Amino acid sequence: MKITLLGTGSPIPDSSRAGPATLVETSDAKLLVDAGRGLLMRLNAAGVVPPFLNGVLVTHLHSDHITDLNDVITTHWVMCPGPVTLHLYGPPGLQEVVNGILAMLGPDIRYRMDHHDDLKWKPQLEVHEVSPGDSFEAGTTVVKVGQTNHRPVEPTIAFRVEADGKSAVLGGDGVPCDGLDEICADADAYVQTVLREDFVKMVPNPRFQEILDYHSTVEQAAQTAKRAGVKTLVLTHYIPMLMPGAEDEWRAIAAAHFDGPIVLGDDLTTVEL
Ligand SMILES: [Zn+2]
Ligand SMILES: [Zn+2]
Repeated sequence: MKITLLGTGSPIPDSSRAGPATLVETSDAKLLVDAGRGLLMRLNAAGVVPPFLNGVLVTHLHSDHITDLNDVITTHWVMCPGPVTLHLYGPPGLQEVVNGILAMLGPDIRYRMDHHDDLKWKPQLEVHEVSPGDSFEAGTTVVKVGQTNHRPVEPTIAFRVEADGKSAVLGGDGVPCDGLDEICADADAYVQTVLREDFVKMVPNPRFQEILDYHSTVEQAAQTAKRAGVKTLVLTHYIPMLMPGAEDEWRAIAAAHFDGPIVLGDDLTTVEL
């Protein structure tokens, strides 16, 4: 199993980091988790184009995690030589979001179908709204759905991908909770979006301070990893942005709470399990 951090950024614009998006590749599936800003450029750099995707998994409907879902849908549609279904998995509400995206893309879909005689179908999408306890498959790869706590944003979920004797959890956004501990139990890798509490507290702006309410700090992500018996901790979605050369400082904060390998870095950082 291979995990590629396609986008390690957050809602804060950063010229060197795409928005939240992670690719998980197993022996028989390629799964995209979340669809943040600029992800298709990073997906391309990872050698993958949308027609190769067996599923798009959405942890929650915050804009930074879905802003380029329209790009995935359109590019999958126009690059597939025939009517191929793109499967989208996410919490209840995903269908409403996809309906809105298709409404936004209405003129574009008309232009392309009018222009290209061989394009006789609209984007072929199947939306699967899933909840904690559900699971689904892509080939021999099994994906389990877990509960997260990103309140007041609800519903939000984590995914656990199991294949080839390995497991990886994509925790999405949120603070530690029992559901997250459960889905992370003994996982080979746990990917968590994080913030630096010390830096956030320096910004005297209520709207910025409030992001502390519903994001794991680096310390909390490490504590979850330790409690759950995770083997490798992977940090992403850095708030504020991870500055060049600061990787060891962030890693040391996590290492005070977790003994295993800690991975973080630029877009396209990979972890092989
Ligand atoms: Zn969020
Ligand atoms: Zn986010």
